[in-house]
Formats: sequence, structure tokens, C-alpha cells
Amino acid sequence: MNALFRAGSNPGRRYDYLIVGAGFAGSVLAERLASQHGARILLIDRRPHVGGNAYDEPNEAGILYHKYGPHIFHTNSSQVVDYLSQFTEWRPYEHRVLAYVREKLVPIPINRTTLNTLFDLDLKTDEEAADYLASRAEPVDDIRTSEDVVINAVGRELYELFFRGYTRKQWGLDPSELDKQVTSRIPTRTNTDDRYFSDTFQAMPLQGYTAMFEKMLDHPLIEKRLGTDFREFKDRAHELADHIIYTGPIDEYFDYRFGKLPYRSLRFDHQTLEEDRFQPVAVVNYPSEDVPFTRISEYKHLTGQQSPVTTVTYEYPSAEGDPYYPIPRPENQELFKRYEALADQAEGVTFVGRLATYRYYNMDQIVGQALATFRRLDEKKPQNQETAVAAE
Ligand code: FAD
Ligand code: UDP
Repeated sequence: MNALFRAGSNPGRRYDYLIVGAGFAGSVLAERLASQHGARILLIDRRPHVGGNAYDEPNEAGILYHKYGPHIFHTNSSQVVDYLSQFTEWRPYEHRVLAYVREKLVPIPINRTTLNTLFDLDLKTDEEAADYLASRAEPVDDIRTSEDVVINAVGRELYELFFRGYTRKQWGLDPSELDKQVTSRIPTRTNTDDRYFSDTFQAMPLQGYTAMFEKMLDHPLIEKRLGTDFREFKDRAHELADHIIYTGPIDEYFDYRFGKLPYRSLRFDHQTLEEDRFQPVAVVNYPSEDVPFTRISEYKHLTGQQSPVTTVTYEYPSAEGDPYYPIPRPENQELFKRYEALADQAEGVTFVGRLATYRYYNMDQIVGQALATFRRLDEKKPQNQETAVAAE
């Protein structure tokens, strides 16, 4: 890190922006600011690679796998698709997930097939399935928690079979202690649509996420320093750049002044198996609390890769480790708001991304957030910036 400062012995600041974090949030902003403003960017990440949690790489067996768990791209935003399509082609892929319940593999989200298979029924129409669910549902007047959402839609038995155990494992909390937004991510269906997402655009980057990031960041004004932790030079950061864009955890930026913001972590157990195919779909969920992991993912389904071997990942939720998930519940949101108030006061720093804004956002939402942040910076751009850069 000292090299950054030694090399910077010239008195002027060497960069217009220091961007902390090379995930979607940081990389989109680096690309936009370099290509649209001619801004000089220093992009750092404490990990040895770009891509943030979406990073993928071929393993020793040559299988493209996702180091931080399976990432499936889906969105309803044509703006986000158009933007990312500058840097990748797409492989059409519709995600399907099965849940292992009562020794059967059944579709999740719960749909008509799930009900027929699990309860040995013969529901033939949407109406019949809707009536059946209505007969089991236990209406909740004021839906606030992740338990309320599911009980209200499908009743207690299905809630316990599919949601209670999975959620307790994933979050270390009972669904009744989590905001409704968590389980609201999973719809209930009366038809036989067994896709996990209903979005208009569902696809995987053809060569993988890392290849897409490399193309996005391939710009002469973007300098990358990987394996570089902002904490090591935070106090001198403004010597390097006028403006900082920070996409790491917001509580860490403020030295945990108000205490730690809870984030949920995961341990990934990646295994390569000497078989062509391990499971029928990309992801199988294990909601039972008798099983310690939450889900198993098999990458060949996502990528279409052909090989006599296959790579799978078991996910074990954990309180310790890298921060992966902000935990949506009212007291955490209150604590975040205190940090956010500090962030609003901070001069020359913009906070963006899943960890810095403490939002349980998908990749497309983060791209949307970063593009909106760029538009705000664009409006505030000093008139002379382009001239200054052009004159160098
Ligand atoms: P991140 O990707 O977390 O990037 C932040 C970067 O900042 C990290 O690389 C980190 O190393 C770096 N950093 C932090 N602090 C510092 C510091 N002090 N110094 C230097 N660098 C620092 N979304 C979907 O749309 N579909 C999915 O299928 C999906 N699956 C997911 C599965 C899992 C297991 C997880 C955890 C997330 C999943 N997501 C999925 C969400 C997706 O990962 C995020 O929306 C997205 O990656 C957020 O991008 P980001 O840039 O905000 O954060
Ligand atoms: N969930 C569940 N059972 C399932 C799938 C999901 O209880 O079979 C709940 C769980 O609380 C999970 C949330 O719904 O964290 C959101 O699921 P999603 O698949 O969107 O989680 P992510 O991919 O973000 O980990």
C-alpha cells in the first residue's frame, strides 16, 4: 500500500475517484465514470479478484464454479440488461429449484405440482389449487414478519415443511423475527410454472461473471489494485482522490462506532465429483433442520458446461465469516439508519452497494442502484472536469 503513496509523490491527487470494492456496485461506477466522464479511477478490493460475490473461476477440474455460491441473473429492468449487454453475451437459462421434503423432491416455489406430489392430490386447475390453498391458509391481518407472509398464504403445515427450518438455518433466526421481505421473495403459485423467478429476463453471462467484469473494467483510466484493504490507508485516502466511492460494510467504515451491524455469513463446501450429473436441477433446497446445510448447487446446469465430472457446493450458514447478507429486521434497520446519518454527513464519500446501504438486493438491483448513483454524480459533475482530464 505504501507504494500507492510513494508513487504518488507528485503533489496533485492522482485519481478523481477511489472506489472501494470491485463487485457490481464498484465496477459499474468505475466503468461509467471512466468511460463517460474521463475520470481517473483507482479501484481496490481486499480480495485477490474482481467481481465481488459474483466471482466465478474454473477449478482444477476445469469446471466453472461460483466461489461465493450460485449466482443466477434475473431482472425486469431493460435498462440493466442493456447496460450489462455491452460487456457480455447471454446464455438463456431459467432457474429451477427442488426442495427435499418428506423424502421427495418437489418444486419450490410451492406450485400445483408441489401440492399434488406431496399430498397425493389431483388438482387440475389454478382454481382448484387456489381453493385448496385457501382452505389451508391462516389469514393474518397485519402481515409484518416472514412467518406471517407464509402462514397467511399457505398455512402452518406447508410453512413448517418448506420455510421454518430453512429460514432458521439460513438466518439463525425464526421467521417470526425477520422482516416480511425475506420470505416474500418466494411466491406461491397455483399453476405448474416451476421456475424459481418470474422475471422477464433470466440468463447467465455466456463466458461467466468474471469475464463480464474483466471486460467492464478494461479501460485505460481504470487502475485496479487487488488484495488491497481500504482499512490500511483510510486516513490518507483523500490524498489519493478527491472522491471516495465505498461499497464495503458501512459499520466498518465508521469503525463500528455504534456497534456491529449484523450480517449473515456462509461457509461454502465445494466438491468435485466423478460423475456426470449429481442432481436433476441446479439447486436443491434442504429445509429440514435435521440437515446442517441449506442447499446444494450444481454449476453445470447454470453454465451448460460438458464434462465427465461435476462440481457442487453445499452452503452452511454461519454467524462468523465474510458479510454476505444484511439481516432485515427492524432493530438492524434502526442501527443502519444511525450509520446512514453519518454517511449523509461524510464529505467526499458516496456509499453504494449491498453492504454499504445494508439492503438485501439482488445483482440487478445493485446495478440499478449504481447506475442511479452515477446519474446523480453526473448531475453534480464540475463543468471543468472534462477539460482538466483532456489537458493532461
Ligand atoms: P459485493 O459483491 O459484496 O462487493 C463488495 C466488494 O467490496 C467485495 O469484493 C469486498 O471484498 C470489497 N470490500 C469490502 N470492504 C473492503 C475494504 N475495506 N477494502 C477493500 N475492499 C473491500 N443476486 C442475484 O441477483 N442472483 C443470485 O442468484 C444471487 N445469489 C447470491 C448467493 C449468495 C450466496 C450471495 C451471498 C449473494 C447472492 N446474490 C444474488 C446477491 C449478489 O451477490 C449481490 O447483489 C451483489 O454481489 C452485490 O454487489 P456489491 O458490489 O454491492 O457487493
Ligand atoms: N426460503 C425458505 N425455503 C426455501 C427457499 C427460501 O424458507 O426453500 C426463505 C429463506 O428465508 C430464504 C428466503 O426465503 O432466505 C429467500 O430465499 P432466496 O432463495 O431468495 O434466498 P437467497 O438466494 O437470497 O439466499
